[in-house]
Amino acid sequence: MRGTEVSSKPASTIAGWLQLNELTAGQCETLLKLAPRSLPGTGQDRQVPSPDGPALWALAADCLSETLPELASDILRTASQTRVDFAPDPRNYPRPFTLHMPVDGQVYVSCPLAGTPWDALTVAHEFGHALQLNCCSGVQLPPVLRETAAFVAEAVVAGALALRDTPLADPVCRAYARRTLTDLGPIAKRLRAALACPDTPYDDCWNYPPARQIAQALTQGDRPLRTGIAASVFRGDAQLGALVSLLCSDAE
Ligand SMILES: [Zn+2]
Repeated sequence: MRGTEVSSKPASTIAGWLQLNELTAGQCETLLKLAPRSLPGTGQDRQVPSPDGPALWALAADCLSETLPELASDILRTASQTRVDFAPDPRNYPRPFTLHMPVDGQVYVSCPLAGTPWDALTVAHEFGHALQLNCCSGVQLPPVLRETAAFVAEAVVAGALALRDTPLADPVCRAYARRTLTDLGPIAKRLRAALACPDTPYDDCWNYPPARQIAQALTQGDRPLRTGIAASVFRGDAQLGALVSLLCSDAE
């Protein structure tokens, strides 16, 4: 499950959400039409023990440093200076989240684990949020750009594991494929319905399909990872509209 997304200035309708993200409905629809990149199968997993929280946090840092060396110092800082709770009270905090503002100068992450291969992605997702906060502390970012950072981190960890000789690779890649197909399938359908009906009340899930598409376009397929653009997503200086135009014109 993804974390609870708390916008600093919640939009109440799809029009407000588009404005908040500096996107047009047309850009959003074009983005949703991008063909999904190649994904591994989602079939049955072998039972593989999942590493504990600190090991997964270190794994996310390692995979991201390998893939985005220009962010190495920010990744190191995120790895060592984030307050991460891997066993929060499940009654009060059942879902993972990263606070949007640092507490006493530290980024705070709540990240309950399930003991399954999903954990590697859950941890990668929250690491992505924490890294972005460390790269552009104090700057309010549009929610789609926040989710894009988290999904890029998931994609980087799944992609890096796929290249390693580890039993974790196969189940994590399958879990990644399932999450991606959910965002680009049923969740994207909800966003399309909202785009067609401007009075639909705000729903956090709208952030996922565009963010997933951008993260996929930046990290998957036969083109090399566009590290400069991915780094600009973490630094918060990527413009969503410009990013969508670039990725969509590229796909044509
Ligand atoms: Zn998130």
